[in-house]
Amino acid sequence: QMPVPSDIEISQSCMPKPIDQIAKEVGLFPDEVELYGQTKAKVQLSVLKRLQNQPDGKYVVVTGITPTPLGEGKSTTTVGLVQALGAHLHQNVFACVRQPSQGPTFGIKGGAAGGGYCQVVPMEEFNLHLTGDIHAITAANNLVAAAIDARMFHELTQSDQKLGINKTDPMALTKEEVNAFVRLDIDPGTITWQRVLDTNDRFLRKITIGQSVTEKGFSRTAQFDITVSSEIMAVLALADGLDDMKKRFGRMVVACSKKGQPVTADDLGVTGALAVLMKDAIKPNLMQTLEGTPVFVHAGPFANIAHGNSSVLADKIALKLVGKDGFVVTEAGFGADIGMEKFFNIKCRYSGLRPHVVVLVATVRALKMHGGGPAVTAGVPLPKEYTEENLQLVAKGCSNLNKQIQNARMFGVPVVVAVNAFKTDTKAELALVVQHAKEAGAFDAVECTHWAEGGKGALALARAVQRASQAPSNFRFLYNVELPVVDKIRLIAQQVYGARDIELLPEAQEKVAVYTKQHGIVVNLPASALLKVFEEKSNGFGNLPICMAKTHLSLSHDPEQKGAPSGFVLPIRDIRASVGAGFLYPLVGTMSTMPGLPTRPCFYDIDLDPVSGEINGLF
Ligand code: ADP
Repeated sequence: QMPVPSDIEISQSCMPKPIDQIAKEVGLFPDEVELYGQTKAKVQLSVLKRLQNQPDGKYVVVTGITPTPLGEGKSTTTVGLVQALGAHLHQNVFACVRQPSQGPTFGIKGGAAGGGYCQVVPMEEFNLHLTGDIHAITAANNLVAAAIDARMFHELTQSDQKLGINKTDPMALTKEEVNAFVRLDIDPGTITWQRVLDTNDRFLRKITIGQSVTEKGFSRTAQFDITVSSEIMAVLALADGLDDMKKRFGRMVVACSKKGQPVTADDLGVTGALAVLMKDAIKPNLMQTLEGTPVFVHAGPFANIAHGNSSVLADKIALKLVGKDGFVVTEAGFGADIGMEKFFNIKCRYSGLRPHVVVLVATVRALKMHGGGPAVTAGVPLPKEYTEENLQLVAKGCSNLNKQIQNARMFGVPVVVAVNAFKTDTKAELALVVQHAKEAGAFDAVECTHWAEGGKGALALARAVQRASQAPSNFRFLYNVELPVVDKIRLIAQQVYGARDIELLPEAQEKVAVYTKQHGIVVNLPASALLKVFEEKSNGFGNLPICMAKTHLSLSHDPEQKGAPSGFVLPIRDIRASVGAGFLYPLVGTMSTMPGLPTRPCFYDIDLDPVSGEINGLF
């Protein structure tokens, strides 16, 4: 067997089709496509209107068991599956994936274009700037941040007259004008909107701003988060059109006034400018796989503090383009307890789309880890338990596979388990996983070798998905949004994670007390302010779905607990809200919103050949 070359060598040795040809193949008209060079294009949202009477294709979501820190191949399998369905079985297909953050690309994890012979190409375009969507999000996010501090500064240093406050005739002004001219009186201690940057820069986790004399002493501590954790990103991923995106931007709560009123992007008068900055980012990006099948790359919200799924719009357009008998394969971040649960309870709730099949990716290495194998660490060679046959560890670790299969079945959708084979896996190990998966109630389970072989290595998976898509699907949500917040959180903790109960730590209690007493809303503001927010806007966001912020390395809150832990009590540290995006996010433990660089970051290996212009070292 020939060794598989590096991801970037494979990507660069392939000759992608011109992207306008792909656009034509999928049935897009030339005036619906905006070319960004030879290999990328944006697709206009008008296509949704043109195809509104076209029936949707089959909707498949790819998720996984609880992963090792290395990732178990969800992106690779998403690409392998569409290559098998499209290039080998000649079905209409689309893959919909997230755009990766440049933080991890230059940090620990590398890119997210898939791997081996299953990649979105060119992978350097995919992993780097793409068409600038993440840059647009950075710009939009930071405009809001600048608006907050500048507004406070001017209000505090200038008279009403200088601010242009029209006291004589407020009735003559539009709402926007009123907002632009009244004093918002922002309480600096309540600001929840942070600046962002798409770089792993740990020294920006806590900073002091406003130190120049020109700011007249108005300095405060603040922080930078990574761009993909911005609420702007979450809004992009959930919006179903320009109008909806604008409304969601306007509702974003950024702080509270000294009287306890919520201050929104609308109050800052910045909504229109945000829409202008994001008008191109809202259009999905068309690319292709190594085998020439179409891909949408669009949005990439963090899977821990946000909902970790690509955009609703890309999925909707793809479902129309593939038509009734076609397949759209979309990927949900991290394990089924996180990305898939949020896919169903948040993304499908907002989009109204109903999935037909869940593909659950499992690997022998992750199951061995769940069975008690030693820790798996990025950048460190795998211990021998992982390179030699060990059926006992695999069998024991199948507790995690079993639980994640039940998690998917809870939503009433058939589950196909894809066992992503690595070259060190033995026949007996792979067969054991397949057997366990079937016994646990999977619709089917198959071995896949697409990483090493491309689409033909995922043919069995593709056929299983085709069969499963014909099976009856009884989709249901896990919870009704009208349930009290605590009940919704407890349902997820008990049913999906296997917790005995939840425990609200003081900060969370304070917010829930306000919430339950008032049946109102919970935002990341002091409890006193919450009451006011509730009184003002209870109809607007009283019944938001829940987006748990939890580690992806365990079904529980403790990354060390592998397998399928039970009997634990899940601690809820705090509860915050992304009012614009449309979810409440309970914090389970501490979630970093700004990753750091390791001792030897990926960027050490990344280089550009000045003669050929070729990029090396991306993976
Ligand atoms: P996820 O999307 O689940 O995080 P990826 O698809 O990005 O996982 O895969 C993680 C890494 O593992 C990538 O570098 C990929 O190339 C590699 N990988 C995936 N499947 C295999 C396999 N079967 N053999 C070897 N490497 C693999």
